[in-house]
Amino acid sequence: MTSQIETKVWIVDKDVENLQSCTQIVDAARLIRQGEVVAFPTETVYGLGANALSDNAVEKIFSAKGRPSDNPLIVHIGELSQLEMIAREIPERAVPLIEAFWPGPLTLILPKTDRVASLVTAGLDTVGVRMPDHPLALALIREAGVPIAAPSANRSGRPSPTTAGHVHADLNGRIAGILDGGSTGVGVESTVLDVTVEPAMILRPGGVTLEEMEAVIGDVQLDPAFLVGAAETPRSPGMKYTHYAPQGEMWLVAGEDDAVRKKIRELLADARQHGRKTGVLATEETAPYWREQAAADVVFSCGSRYDLASVAQQLYGVLRRFDDEHVQFIAAETFPRKGMGMAVMNRLEKAAGGRIIRA
Ligand code: AMP
Ligand code: MG
Repeated sequence: MTSQIETKVWIVDKDVENLQSCTQIVDAARLIRQGEVVAFPTETVYGLGANALSDNAVEKIFSAKGRPSDNPLIVHIGELSQLEMIAREIPERAVPLIEAFWPGPLTLILPKTDRVASLVTAGLDTVGVRMPDHPLALALIREAGVPIAAPSANRSGRPSPTTAGHVHADLNGRIAGILDGGSTGVGVESTVLDVTVEPAMILRPGGVTLEEMEAVIGDVQLDPAFLVGAAETPRSPGMKYTHYAPQGEMWLVAGEDDAVRKKIRELLADARQHGRKTGVLATEETAPYWREQAAADVVFSCGSRYDLASVAQQLYGVLRRFDDEHVQFIAAETFPRKGMGMAVMNRLEKAAGGRIIRA
């Protein structure tokens, strides 16, 4: 385990003018240049950043998180001119995507240059790159003057952090600092899209939807490993790990509303009989029913069924609340795999370790 270091916390108002010259950003950027790791907000989740051109610096990310070294990191750039430092070639199909979605939650897999630290790409010949759509992230990267490699700023296996408090809970004493810019917006990680193949392939669903990308470049395929019951190994190394998981045992229940309610009631009754503390991950529409039923010890609502972006935004925070309450058994509703529903369902399946029941 890494020895304890003092973790600075800088609170920054993201709406101030000249962010790049404010002392907190200047301090944080200096630490990045010195080879330290600093957590910062992006529009998706908080990232844990280090100089992407330095193996020494990037190694500290892996040890702070306890991340397996075969899981590559995404490199974040602050301006398009930094792209040539890390990408050897930009395939033509990537250009309209960059124009449409950067800055934003879309990571493109591109052929890498030799300058990228080899630990960043876990030995692959490609690198994942994106430009985040958050004023603090952009100011930090521009002030640091180097591309920043950053996975989510959580201990490996835990739900990704959507507030500076989540980062502090996981990494205090293990990293040099945390830039606190409030809650993140999108709430789930970026979409990872391989643009070295034709048609481009989604390796991880995320903040930019399949439908949005198809509107820009036409046909987009999904890594077959995502199809229900697929036996294939995901092409994105990170997708094979249990991830985003709360400490309690979580089950997803799919099907028609009434059948889902009945099945969830049965599961909860059984868990209670075994003396376990129980929870339901519900939505604004269903939480009142579960509270009235008193079938579980805690009921947390995660956005609205009619607004899957609101579910994405709140999902990780709600998973952490089950841990805060020491819930041992969690039953969750499921969502249609369309639009943001694709990313939401992918994270829920990971959180549940694949435990899904058809009611
Ligand atoms: P995280 O940094 O925790 O958001 O995870 C980054 C995700 O991007 C993981 O699922 C990685 O496996 C994936 N990724 C990063 N770089 C590559 C790459 N060169 N090829 C395929 N997947 C990648
Ligand atoms: Mg992560």
